[in-house]
Amino acid sequence: MSVPKTIVWFRQDLRIKDNPALCAACDAGNVLPIFIEDTNTPDQFALGGASKWWLHHSLMQLNDSLGGNLRVYRGDPAVIISVLCEELDCTQVMWNRCYDSYSIARDSALKQTLKQSDIKVNSYNSLLLWEPMQVLKKDGTAYKVFTPYYRKGCLQQAAPRYPLAAPAKITYCDGPSQENASSNKFAVQIDELGYIPEITWYKTMADEWQPGENGAADRLQTFISQAALRYKDDRNLPAVSGTSKLSPYLHFGEISPNQVWYAILDAFNGASDEHIDCYLSELGWREFSYYLLYHFNTITTENFNPKFDHFPWRTDNDALQRWQRGQTGIPIVDAGMRELWHTGYMHNRVRMIVGSFLVKNLLLDWRLGERWFWDTLLDADTASNSASWQWVAGSGADAAPYFRVFNPILQGEKFDKQGEYVQKWCPELGKLPAKYIHQPWAAPDHILRACGVVLGHNYPKPIVDLKTSRQRALDAFAAIKNVADAPSDAQPSSVSSM
Ligand code: FAD
Repeated sequence: MSVPKTIVWFRQDLRIKDNPALCAACDAGNVLPIFIEDTNTPDQFALGGASKWWLHHSLMQLNDSLGGNLRVYRGDPAVIISVLCEELDCTQVMWNRCYDSYSIARDSALKQTLKQSDIKVNSYNSLLLWEPMQVLKKDGTAYKVFTPYYRKGCLQQAAPRYPLAAPAKITYCDGPSQENASSNKFAVQIDELGYIPEITWYKTMADEWQPGENGAADRLQTFISQAALRYKDDRNLPAVSGTSKLSPYLHFGEISPNQVWYAILDAFNGASDEHIDCYLSELGWREFSYYLLYHFNTITTENFNPKFDHFPWRTDNDALQRWQRGQTGIPIVDAGMRELWHTGYMHNRVRMIVGSFLVKNLLLDWRLGERWFWDTLLDADTASNSASWQWVAGSGADAAPYFRVFNPILQGEKFDKQGEYVQKWCPELGKLPAKYIHQPWAAPDHILRACGVVLGHNYPKPIVDLKTSRQRALDAFAAIKNVADAPSDAQPSSVSSM
């Protein structure tokens, strides 16, 4: 009897360890590992520049781990997979599930088509600790508030699956034997995907990051040994290496949340500790973002709270560009935006500060910020990015109230007391004493002169007055306050056949 051949379609699971689809395929017989650049992907989900750079390197590493056997294609996944099944006589296809509306619809349709051709399809959870369909309120509806979702919904469930080892052995299928096989016209080399941009902006990112499964494992070990037991205190300090920086690895599935969850618990013998609990609950926020994406799939583009559909956002391209380039004249905002550009990452506290500044002080639509982050963040993630932007804007589920406008001076003074973070990213302010570094315009002239700062010349004057722009935001909010209060019940996704 011939050994069954299984296609494993890699997506947000670019790893060998703890990969349920890959393990199941190896147990079943011979494996054809594939990655497809899906040319039907809607613009909204098409990869941003930073993500492309990351993905290029991640695929290279995955291919190495698979002994050079990863096959890469470009085109319509439904066509490519059907053609491969026929050419290679594959009887099974396996993948790990994605949770955005486009992927759900695509995968469900493909599953039906393959089944009609007697090809078995199995899908698995590799991306989340608890899948969204598993966690519902007693009345069968979805949670909209984080704490009950996490405490009552998730933590009361069975513990997350323990991570799987890498398959002991992977036996690969041969590719199509004929030169002119139909699948070959979709085949590309990783280099041919064109994910490395022509402009060299990414070079500074390359110094900071090592994409791929090994980089993820190293990052996790460093966090466990150096920062985990101080996490609750240090996680808000952008000048300190107090967080795990695992977000891009989690996004691309180079490490699973299960691996992170149990590595942390095992390292500290499951002991209850405020730092560990705090860290695990941040993984919970990631779960909540995917949960919202699944149950309210329009959160990527539409206000979760439809009251905000009436919000009087401004149009101001000059202000938007200054924000993007880190030239607003508000030091902590500029430091954050420059960190993002140079490293593809921004500290969470600073993401909240720059986000609040964009939507509240500049009164620009959160979707403009979401798009910029989408293009420049290495961890750009449909679920976390849209849920977080809506949280900042006040339009989201369990969002920060709109009237809570972050004061970037106070935020800077609290979380970057000595101004080290600002000094690093805005070196032109580097000589200013801590007292003035978060508000250089308040420094006496002689201090500015002595520190080499000429406002409006080598560092911008603030593009808005913080006090009046705050009031403008509150007034705008007051204008929509009386519109009906109920959050939208966006279309729940239909996923029975994911
Ligand atoms: P750690 O503090 O070490 O946390 C561990 C993990 O928990 C993270 O890797 C991440 O997967 C998850 N996590 C932590 N905080 C959050 C959160 N608030 N929401 C969801 N997951 C969280 N995160 C993304 O992964 N992709 C995004 O596109 C993204 N966009 C954001 C946009 C805005 C405006 C804001 C305010 C936050 C955004 N976040 C996003 C959430 C958060 O800032 C990052 O996950 C975090 O900074 C990543 O750094 P870390 O890995 O060191 O986090």
